Amino acid sequence: MSIVPASQIPSLSLLYKLGKIPPAAASKPPPTLLGPSTLPTPSKSLNDRVAIVRGDITKLRVSAIVNAANNSLRGGGGVDGAIHRAAGPGLLAECRTLNGCPTGSAKITRAYNLPCDRVIHAVGPIYSTHDPEKSERELTSAYTTSLKLAADNGCKTVAFSALSTGVYGYPSRAAAPAALSAVRKFMKGEDGKNLDKVVIVTFEKKDVDAYNEALPLFFPPEEKPAAAGDEQPAKKKKAEAELEAEAQAVANELPSPPKVDPADGDHVEKKQKRSED
Ligand code: ADP
Repeated sequence: MSIVPASQIPSLSLLYKLGKIPPAAASKPPPTLLGPSTLPTPSKSLNDRVAIVRGDITKLRVSAIVNAANNSLRGGGGVDGAIHRAAGPGLLAECRTLNGCPTGSAKITRAYNLPCDRVIHAVGPIYSTHDPEKSERELTSAYTTSLKLAADNGCKTVAFSALSTGVYGYPSRAAAPAALSAVRKFMKGEDGKNLDKVVIVTFEKKDVDAYNEALPLFFPPEEKPAAAGDEQPAKKKKAEAELEAEAQAVANELPSPPKVDPADGDHVEKKQKRSED
């Protein structure tokens, strides 16, 4: 997979236009800490600045990628391992100077050999079936802290891995709404104005499915497809056809998703953390 610049990662506006995100299957978003509790009004500004892509986060040329790290910040398996491998030893050396990171928080480093400029190391929770509310608070906080770090460090484009949904066992169908509610709240706030693009990076099919389900409930499409017989001025029609052709060309260039779900033998062991369950 070749390096993908931020400008080529399709926004939700484009994906809705191309019919790549299925219509909402529910009438309101599932309850999350940061809401909204009812279907929000569609927003072009948000849909233009939120994006989703399936593939390897280490190949994205964005201002910052968000790593699903552990408390030690000394590397691990899964996406953490992939990021450290691609960045080279300088990343681990810098991480060692940071004194770890509490769950629900994040720290920022340089990116060494990666195509991005910075790495934000976020620590999501190990999912607790006994205290799912605490897990949600910590996951939400990991997303919000990462977004704030990105904005404070002048990172205009930031790409998130699906924090906690791998070895840490957070169910994807619960993690996606928590992630999207945090992104939505942040992007609507003052700090969010400094971010040009927030990219959700999925890797496994379960996360693709979870986001396809949640996206139209947190970031609804602006317009319904035109009904048959709708009149459009010829000029507008031409402009739209051009945009769609361009969009299709971008979509064709996108990185291929992994053919198999990741199986990293030493992943669990390297996480150095055990579930409280
Ligand atoms: P956690 O311990 O926080 O669950 P993992 O690394 O196990 O972290 O998984 C987090 C997510 O990252 C999972 O959804 C996993 O499929 C995904 N992932 C693994 N490798 C990559 C990669 N190279 N690029 C993007 N996402 C990845």
